[in-house]
Amino acid sequence: ASGVIAFIGLGNMGGPMAANLVRAGYRVQAFDLAEPALAAARDAGVTVATDAGEAARGADVVITMLPAGRHVLSTYSGGLLDAAPAGALFIDCSTIDVADARKAVEAAHAAGKRALDAPVSGGTTGATNGTLTFMVGGADADVDAARPVLEAMGRKIVHCGGSGAGQAAKLCNNMLLGIQMIGVAEAFVLAESLGLSQEALFEVSSTATGQCWALNTNCPVPGPVPTSPANRDYQGGFAVALMAKDLGLATTALDAGGLGSPLGRLAAQVYGDLATTDRAGQDFSTVINVLRERTAT
Ligand code: NAD
Repeated sequence: ASGVIAFIGLGNMGGPMAANLVRAGYRVQAFDLAEPALAAARDAGVTVATDAGEAARGADVVITMLPAGRHVLSTYSGGLLDAAPAGALFIDCSTIDVADARKAVEAAHAAGKRALDAPVSGGTTGATNGTLTFMVGGADADVDAARPVLEAMGRKIVHCGGSGAGQAAKLCNNMLLGIQMIGVAEAFVLAESLGLSQEALFEVSSTATGQCWALNTNCPVPGPVPTSPANRDYQGGFAVALMAKDLGLATTALDAGGLGSPLGRLAAQVYGDLATTDRAGQDFSTVINVLRERTAT
């Protein structure tokens, strides 16, 4: 391998991920539609290309970090697959529809390339610090080939299964997380109405059967966990808009599988509504604030 990586999509996640690849010693050839993203990447030592195809020329590995499935599919078919050398390894790190992920892999295989889906969790902090978790779908040999590259951007790489399994793991986890946060928030709202202190509920539930990340780490009320976003007016953390996006993808998958999943669907609706308000940019634990409003009406 010549150690050349193409990187398409230098946004909030892709920008710092590409910078970590440069730090690890790779030559990174990158492209983004947005000029400010290109300028920041240049400052980080990335070689900026004039389009996606140029970025892929001579690359062993082609990484995409784009908003949605349609961007990945149109970029793949719009020159990226053709421009990369035969056998190049395509790694899509975007969070996209499972069906789109499988389509992207099929298109890559048809073009004589190798391909993986490898969405991430860990947010912009994880992207910056190189501590992301990668959930990877694809063939064993391809995952092994991707591992050193992914390790330059992340701390944990989980091979979840065949094509689409990485996206599937991401959707299932985030549906669980979205439901759990609403459950935790509802428990705090009920405690308030019963005159039970937040501290007492936390002390009991965080060590008893109600414990979960949404309570123990990302506690939606200020106080019990001083580092949780609730202590800084829900700034930072995992934005409502991103949770709404992931639950929209989960809903699509539920429909495709003919599954009822009432709580997953309700969670998608709750965060979807919240994403249309001025709380869209806040950490998703801010959902407790609308649950309070709803009980008041
Ligand atoms: P972002 O909007 O900050 O970045 C996306 C970038 O893609 C933008 O810079 C945009 O200009 C560029 N782009 C769009 N279409 C393009 C094209 N055709 N060619 C080249 N560049 C193009 O988004 P982000 O926060 O970096 O998220 C990227 C992906 O990662 C999304 O799928 C998101 O769901 C997922 N994700 C985000 C987070 C997070 O905390 N931000 C966490 C986990 C996963």
